[in-house]
Amino acid sequence: MKTVIITGSTSGIGLGIAENFALSGYNVVLNGLGQQDEIEATRARLASLGAGEVIFHGANMLKPDEITDLVKTAEMKFGRVDVIVPNAGIQHVEKIEDFPPEKWDAIIGINLSSAFHLIRAAMPGMKKNGFGRIIAIASAHGLVASPYKSAYVAAKHGILGLIKTVALEGAEFGVTANAICPGYVETPLVTGQIADTAKARNMTEDEVINEVILKAQPTKKFVQVGQIAALASYLASDQAAQITGAALPMDGGWTAQ
Ligand code: NAD
Repeated sequence: MKTVIITGSTSGIGLGIAENFALSGYNVVLNGLGQQDEIEATRARLASLGAGEVIFHGANMLKPDEITDLVKTAEMKFGRVDVIVPNAGIQHVEKIEDFPPEKWDAIIGINLSSAFHLIRAAMPGMKKNGFGRIIAIASAHGLVASPYKSAYVAAKHGILGLIKTVALEGAEFGVTANAICPGYVETPLVTGQIADTAKARNMTEDEVINEVILKAQPTKKFVQVGQIAALASYLASDQAAQITGAALPMDGGWTAQ
């Protein structure tokens, strides 16, 4: 039975990826912020989906020691870690001259440095086992920029460099490292803003989706969490052994422009 750690899996994309791995029978290590009772309900629900066990570890992605403990805990509990999904992330949108330095530090810490600490802790076990899958959830913003997102775009571009480097280091040990680069994904974080934006701009919700949120996305459709989860499961499989060091867009054509 294989074991996967997904950071930031109490919500959105990470939760969808965790569900898919649970359904496939993996042991799943959940992580993220949230209310304890809600997290326990999620843990129990995922545990009922498949044959594997589901545990939660509350490591704060700003604390390297806690990230190391996340990996150690999974290794102690399940004997090995096969797949890691650095996914936790936050956003802040502001022009650079007003961008709060503490927001820069938090975004670089959570969206980029936490992936370094996670991979650093998991790599020795993966190399020893001769198998590992590192699947970072980057963004279309790992490939192109948008204004007012300096820290996020820098962190997501950084993740791609980290993944390529780790791919080279893991290549002879059966360890692959790839990044998924989603466009706009239909998570509560994004859809929750639609009604407010419609009101603020005096537009219909459809106009907000097409002309504001999905302006850059030629399909004019959100990426679905399940579509990302399916790609993550494929990248974790034996069939994906020769895909490594890749940045795979799933962005409705955004970065083709
Ligand atoms: P989300 O807000 O629904 O989930 C973020 C997760 O990260 C949550 O579980 C949260 O608890 C966790 N998290 C935040 N700070 C943390 C910390 N300090 N320690 C531990 N966990 C922490 O967002 P999402 O949309 O699911 O985003 C997940 C990833 O996908 C992010 O890296 C994001 O940049 C990326 N992404 C999202 C979109 C999108 O449109 N939603 C598009 C491209 C990439």
